[in-house]
Amino acid sequence: MSVFKDVDMAPPVAVFNLTARYKEDKDPAKVNLGVGAYRTDEGKPWVLPVVRTVESQMAADSTLDHEYLPIAGLKTFTEAATRLALGDDSPALLQNRAGGFQALSGTGALRLGIDFLSRFGKSKTVYVSDPTWPNHMAIGRDAHFTEIKKYRYWDDKTKALNIDGMLEDLRNAPEHSVVILHGCAHNPTGVDPKKEQWEQIAEVMAAKKLFPFFDIAYQGFATGDLDADASSVRLFVKKEFELFVSQSFSKNFGLYNERVGNLAIVTQDNDSLMRVQSQLEKLARPMWSNPPNHGARIVATTLNNPSLFAEWKEAIRTMSSRVISMRALLKQKLKQLNTPGSWDHITDQIGMFSYTGLTSKQVDFIIQKYHVYLMQDGRINMCAVTNSNCDHIAAAIHDAVT
Ligand code: PLP
Repeated sequence: MSVFKDVDMAPPVAVFNLTARYKEDKDPAKVNLGVGAYRTDEGKPWVLPVVRTVESQMAADSTLDHEYLPIAGLKTFTEAATRLALGDDSPALLQNRAGGFQALSGTGALRLGIDFLSRFGKSKTVYVSDPTWPNHMAIGRDAHFTEIKKYRYWDDKTKALNIDGMLEDLRNAPEHSVVILHGCAHNPTGVDPKKEQWEQIAEVMAAKKLFPFFDIAYQGFATGDLDADASSVRLFVKKEFELFVSQSFSKNFGLYNERVGNLAIVTQDNDSLMRVQSQLEKLARPMWSNPPNHGARIVATTLNNPSLFAEWKEAIRTMSSRVISMRALLKQKLKQLNTPGSWDHITDQIGMFSYTGLTSKQVDFIIQKYHVYLMQDGRINMCAVTNSNCDHIAAAIHDAVT
């Protein structure tokens, strides 16, 4: 009898399951709007030209080797990544009280930071937005947070941010709770707080001594401007919060499978930073021991070289403007079809995703009849919309809502 006879079959992870179903589908008109990855207008993955350039330089450089990195990762990467999130003129950097720690992409940085807070933080309650990227809940649970609570975020009626609900929930949160905030391009809704709303959020969080944990997986993707997309994080730093930021370079560098991430840490003083970083080493060592080098070196080389950096910014603008133009196109097609409802939210939302407002039943209908695969909550990856498939997608949505 197997040792594992009592192990239940786990349900599949929704987004990967959707991709598997898409791959099995033989219909030539099929479209995958599920997984959050950039596609060109030909529907193909895109290796950024700057990544190709740096990779060929690396391949030709005989001084590079495959020695272990330190536990905290490649210093040129963590320093550059932290600067990218906080800004060159960040008071925390200038006062030597901010630093980075390399992790296995955004997910790993979140997990590492949440694990740390579970051991050393002042609260076992973590708040996530309703809705949020489902992994936030799983990470909180696996890091032994005893309460995983939701703060109101999305208003179904207005298809916009429920700022009053959000502020009220934060006001009612127990002191010192950890609050996961999407730094920009909220996943799945594509709706971000405006500057004044971030001010209000910061005010409530300061009053309740809540700990901000920014998840910034889409810096540059939201507006095409790296600084604008990090403005929420920078506002909180300016207001003298201690905070964590999980950074991912999956989307903005297209380095999905290289697992390039950074946990940026902002503390009150340098002494606290040193102690936190030393404990992070103790957490990382028995998990992955030390992080992978390849992707981190690509990112570090690019961020630390002005001409490669300029080339990268251009690529980010290419990606973000393609998304913005596809939002406009999809809305235009729905308007042309006289599809009932207002589709303004498609162009009002930003970043990779659009939260269409389609019901679960409508989603099933679209998948079955049109072979257009989207998440059960109606989230679509705008990057996978192209000039060639937009008519088909609009027709599918139209048919589902009429
Ligand atoms: N956070 C959010 C909100 C995301 O949408 C994602 C990816 O989809 C991540 C974090 C982490 O991605 P990765 O682990 O590839 O960096």
